[in-house]
Amino acid sequence: MQPGSILGITNFSEPRGSSPKTSLGKRGIFFRTKEFTITYEITATDGNARLGQIHTQKGIINTPAFIPVGTNAAVKAMNQDELKGLGAEVILSNTYHLYLRPGHEIIKELGGLHKFMNWHGPILTDSGGFQVFSLSPLREINEDGVTFRSHLDGSTNFLTPELVMEIQDALGSDIAMAFDECTPYPATREYTLNSLQLTTKWAKRCKEFMKARKCESAEVNQQAEAPALPNLRTSELPSLFGIVQGGVYKDLRKQSAEEIIELDFDGYALGGLSVGEPKELMYEVVDYTTPLLPQDKPRYLMGIGDLLDVLEAVSAGIDMFDCVMPTRNARNGTLFASIGRISIKREEFKADTGPLDPNCECYTCKNYSRAYLRHLFLNKEILSMRLNTLHNLHFYLNFFRKMREAIENSAFDNFKEEQSLILQNNFV
Ligand SMILES: [Zn+2]
Repeated sequence: MQPGSILGITNFSEPRGSSPKTSLGKRGIFFRTKEFTITYEITATDGNARLGQIHTQKGIINTPAFIPVGTNAAVKAMNQDELKGLGAEVILSNTYHLYLRPGHEIIKELGGLHKFMNWHGPILTDSGGFQVFSLSPLREINEDGVTFRSHLDGSTNFLTPELVMEIQDALGSDIAMAFDECTPYPATREYTLNSLQLTTKWAKRCKEFMKARKCESAEVNQQAEAPALPNLRTSELPSLFGIVQGGVYKDLRKQSAEEIIELDFDGYALGGLSVGEPKELMYEVVDYTTPLLPQDKPRYLMGIGDLLDVLEAVSAGIDMFDCVMPTRNARNGTLFASIGRISIKREEFKADTGPLDPNCECYTCKNYSRAYLRHLFLNKEILSMRLNTLHNLHFYLNFFRKMREAIENSAFDNFKEEQSLILQNNFV
């Protein structure tokens, strides 16, 4: 593909350039629901690696993109201005956590997640499926949904595809994920087949729910008087991504991809990876499955953030990643640097006046010494978490910026080779 060409302008309810449908009321013009969903544009490719932009109503996401994780409507230790300053273009919040506490209805009443947390860029919400399977002490799956016990208070809850859509819509998510079963590893072929079929059925129900919701909004808007409009949903229903499952079985991945693509989502995610399978197997599945996904939609590898894995996945054509690695590691004193990973608690840093990473431009590296960062960490100071997180997120977001430049300059292979050597260099 040549730089500048556009692959996909998708999912407008009417062609671009035509006038929006309007109704003339006595007090002026107001819009009916326009099915605005994200659009995806590829601006350059290098091998299978793609450089692109996802256009959302809340802003542009440059891809390949790293999505910092803000589980409880907060990226731990950071405020929203800091995230913006670091160059984060999108954040992820967790449906499961926000449903349990404070509750999606409350967030809706308070004006939605963007207003609640004062983040006005795009927000992606996960489906909660992964948390139900990984955090809940008790869960029972049937065709209708999942019964699980809250890890917070032991209460019994029942999540269905429709409820998961309701929650993500109430939060005001920009990109919602379809409800899926995250197939565990190892799993038999029979289990994996049944699981992917369940995911397809749930995906269909998610699509139907959103379709019905769009029609409802359109009707309400048509009937509405203009002054009431600010309180109505007009065009802010989330875009919806489908999730491909199928475990480590290639034919089942293909089957899942075909079934999910058939439903026509705004983007596609690979799920059920990095759940305990060997890395080589994960790379194989990513290499095999990614080219099966539509070229003109964003492709998202959920929950993956080890940068070696990111390099492999980008070379297979993945566009989006989220992971707690930079933030969680920061709080545990493991810092990513241009020379490899650094464990800040090491004795040798006790009197080290140098910056954490001499090649880093972040606030932490420009202002504080390794000795001070070590001291803060050993004393469990809150500032340790803040400074370490600032650095690690800067490192990650900068890594993605450099990776995008490399794709643009047709130098991705060199970048991958050079960075792989550094990333393998652990605990300097
Ligand atoms: Zn730094």
